[in-house]
Amino acid sequence: AIPLVAQLTTAIGARRGILVRDRAALEEARDIDVVLFDKTGTLTTGKQGLVRVVPTPGGADAGEDALLALAASVESKSEHPIARAIVDAARQKELGLDPATAFQSLAGRGATATVAGRTLTMASARLVTERGIRLDPALIHGARELAPDGATLVYLIDETAGTGPEEARVLGMFALADTIRPESVEAVALLRKRGIRVAMLTGDSHEVANWVAGRLGITEVFAEVLPGQKSDVVARLQAEGSKRVAMVGDGVNDAPALARADLGIAIGAGTDVAIESAGVVLASSDPRGVADTITLSRASYRKML
Ligand code: ADP
Ligand code: MG
Repeated sequence: AIPLVAQLTTAIGARRGILVRDRAALEEARDIDVVLFDKTGTLTTGKQGLVRVVPTPGGADAGEDALLALAASVESKSEHPIARAIVDAARQKELGLDPATAFQSLAGRGATATVAGRTLTMASARLVTERGIRLDPALIHGARELAPDGATLVYLIDETAGTGPEEARVLGMFALADTIRPESVEAVALLRKRGIRVAMLTGDSHEVANWVAGRLGITEVFAEVLPGQKSDVVARLQAEGSKRVAMVGDGVNDAPALARADLGIAIGAGTDVAIESAGVVLASSDPRGVADTITLSRASYRKML
């Protein structure tokens, strides 16, 4: 019986490129109650593309290209996928960028820098709300009309005069779209069929998170979770009736949650930090590998009589 099980597990493991970094983590897989999926880069490809630039109507930096050049100048020092998409779009249009100084990344919220003597911030909807900055209804309307469903919206704000609601000026908005991995629907369904609870854990806005979740049949969503808080969500679920939690992620921001989970699964195309924090790596980046990992674990550790 042992060689048969060994053959079976190797075959399942190889099918979707499951790399086991930690045998103990694989053993945990058979008893998982909840699977938490990161969104960007895990359920989606994470390859953001800039789809819209919407200047604030009547604003001083009225042109789309002028706005994009300013945003790309700020983002030129950031490694975030949104930043890369904005810089790539500016390069493709051969826009001239100004050097950015005093660059600062605002974890899970955006980035800020000094460009041509102005303090500019690329801000998430969350940061805009936190700072009490009022968005022009025409800009919100423009976003609804022009941005595709599920797009992530980022705002460019001039904070030269200050960060408060009276001083900050919203120059415009950028819409970025990511693609849901075609395998994600089945990845969720396979887990559900086994009676495993599936949830999403993301730093992105509630709106985008709910839209992607809806497409995948995920009903439990933790959105606008800051990088440092992802592992707290894992801990909270673990504490709920001592649930065994698996976390699946790709980013630097997922690493503490991957380490904290009973089973951490990293996407192969993810960052090194995520891979080093995980017990299992999905080499082919196919999220269906999560269900396969559970099958593999159950086959490997089934009691043999
Ligand atoms: P996720 O958990 O889905 O992988 P992140 O925690 O990396 O997402 O980012 C959360 C949000 O923070 C993004 O959706 C974006 O709105 C904002 N953000 C973070 N960094 C930047 C940046 N450099 N430029 C623009 N927006 C950013
Ligand atoms: Mg991610």
